Amino acid sequence: MSAPSLPGYRHIYSGKVRDLYQPDERDDRLLLVASDRISAFDHVLRTPIPDKGRVLTAMSQWWFEQLTDLVPNHVVSTDVPAAVAGQAVLVERLDMVMVECVARGYLTGSGLAEYRQAGSVCGIPLPDGLVDGSRLPEPIFTPTTKAPMGEHDESVDFGYVEKAVGPELAATLRRLTLEVYARGESIARERGIVLADTKVEFGMRPDGTVVLADEVLTPDSSRFWPLSEWEPGRAQHSFDKQFVRDWLTSPASGWDRSGDEPPPPLPDEVVERTRARYIDAYERLTGLTFP
Ligand code: ATP
Ligand code: MG
Repeated sequence: MSAPSLPGYRHIYSGKVRDLYQPDERDDRLLLVASDRISAFDHVLRTPIPDKGRVLTAMSQWWFEQLTDLVPNHVVSTDVPAAVAGQAVLVERLDMVMVECVARGYLTGSGLAEYRQAGSVCGIPLPDGLVDGSRLPEPIFTPTTKAPMGEHDESVDFGYVEKAVGPELAATLRRLTLEVYARGESIARERGIVLADTKVEFGMRPDGTVVLADEVLTPDSSRFWPLSEWEPGRAQHSFDKQFVRDWLTSPASGWDRSGDEPPPPLPDEVVERTRARYIDAYERLTGLTFP
């Protein structure tokens, strides 16, 4: 499952799920390829989910179009090499803001852990009595550092962002992140999906324009929960990865989550049901049929 070699492009980087290329001809562009790799419990699994890269690329593209009135985005073209058709975008290469911009409308994960310890998240005080999955009184901006590869992002308060990028840009990042989240949350909710939180990344053009980059409002950058199963007070079901998680933590997998072994390959049935969930999320959100 390594990055494919693409004539005319130089492979420069691979994250857990995506592969980045630089076109030979232009250094102001990047090719972002979404692979079919899937991660769970902090491991990249050895079994790919067929079509996941195409579904997430199409979803991100659809969201960019829903957000154009809020913020410009980095997409230049979806005309990409045939070997990665549908699962790649050519983008403007931006000077990335070194903060990961997270918005949360619901409490869970690292936000919940912080709240339990401190009663606040990223320095924002929250009311007493919230539980795993609670909807927050209003969405909050909970930025993190952008950790180097292999390290974990750390949550920071707004003052940190102001110092890192200046107060003006910090305010812009917060406003745009919350606007993107609010738009995404309301569209998803109408279609039966809770968008619990999301991470967006911004970059700057040489003229200083702030541009929405990376992927946006996909299940890899956000938490999607089925609205019909939302029930604060327990861990929520993941719209996309629930079958994978359930199987990996079941006796059938034989895998010890706290051990050193990587997770075993996924059975075909888990792969097929998971693939169907990604397509279902895409079709519900967009109202389109997945090609
Ligand atoms: P992870 O797998 O945990 O997400 P990662 O963030 O290192 O790890 P990717 O998300 O696959 O891996 O990598 C995408 C990289 O490309 C990120 O560093 C992101 O900031 C960067 N990026 C996204 N869009 C642009 C852009 N328009 N210009 C420059 N860099 C970009
Ligand atoms: Mg990333």
